Amino acid sequence: MRAAMILGKEKIGVTQIPDLEPDGKSVIIKTKLAGVTGYDTTLWELGDITTETVPGHEIVGTVVNPGPRDDLKEGDRVTVLPLAACMECELCKSGQENMCFKNRNTPGKSKTAHGTFSEFFAARPEFVKKIPDRFTDFEGLMLSPAATAYHMVKEMGVSPGWKVLISGGGIMGALVAMWCKYFGAKYIAVFEKNKTRALNLMDYGETTKILDPEDREIIDIILSDTRGLNAQFECSGNARFMNTGILTLRRNSTIATLAMYKKSAPINFFMLNTKLIRIRPFNAHTPADFDKVAELVSANPRKLNLKRYYSASVALNDLQSVFEELMTDTHKYEKVVINKF
Ligand SMILES: [Zn+2]
Repeated sequence: MRAAMILGKEKIGVTQIPDLEPDGKSVIIKTKLAGVTGYDTTLWELGDITTETVPGHEIVGTVVNPGPRDDLKEGDRVTVLPLAACMECELCKSGQENMCFKNRNTPGKSKTAHGTFSEFFAARPEFVKKIPDRFTDFEGLMLSPAATAYHMVKEMGVSPGWKVLISGGGIMGALVAMWCKYFGAKYIAVFEKNKTRALNLMDYGETTKILDPEDREIIDIILSDTRGLNAQFECSGNARFMNTGILTLRRNSTIATLAMYKKSAPINFFMLNTKLIRIRPFNAHTPADFDKVAELVSANPRKLNLKRYYSASVALNDLQSVFEELMTDTHKYEKVVINKF
């Protein structure tokens, strides 16, 4: 079957990998949509982490072989959670599956398991979720990234009146803004340099201010607006932006990090210590978060509008040029999906 693979630094191409045979243990899915994420472009940029495995950890597809899942049948529309949790350790048993150490082997994020950029995908049965009929394919694909943002915002305790900074207005930053507003935040500043993304964010109506993180005046602007923020959500993978954000936080606040996985980064520990600011890393979401998000999105389709993040559908063959464009500051994409394999 056809699949995309990282072929080296900033190189991705289509290749043939062995067909999947039903083994009674996995759910085999024919891929309809695979989402392109910042994690995939980072693997491509670095080029040396997963050169033998297929990237991609977002999918909507139809069941070809349900394996051990009695409740699934051929043709069912499903998505797969980006987890490889053991389901046996204390963390897994207490509903913190996203914290399990075994997630280092998540398909599409590791050297050990192929991801979703291929014609078919073999999923662990416990992480396959049916997509309710009321959602489009694209909304179905967005439920999992929306659950990752939901998990962060909920765990950070965002509540009415909060003032927050989101560093990076890409798809995760936009989803974090959506949930911050949903949980009652009254001031939501976003660091974003890309003009299209900035315009989109203002259009969505959740963001109070979009700021250029290179402009030093923004610290005074935020402080005079707010007298210090409750929290920063780091969604850019850029340590300089995070350090600028630290200067806008109030004492005893928290920075949630999601995107700081590219390489080691210089953090302003002087300011962290002076202001007693904590850093709290996050990874993915739990199966329970997914169910909750599916319920909330269907109950609040206007406030929690996942359709609006759609940008483009591309073919597996197009990935090299799409990734090159995604690395520029001027691209016009939010969520790109692969729909031709
Ligand atoms: Zn575990």
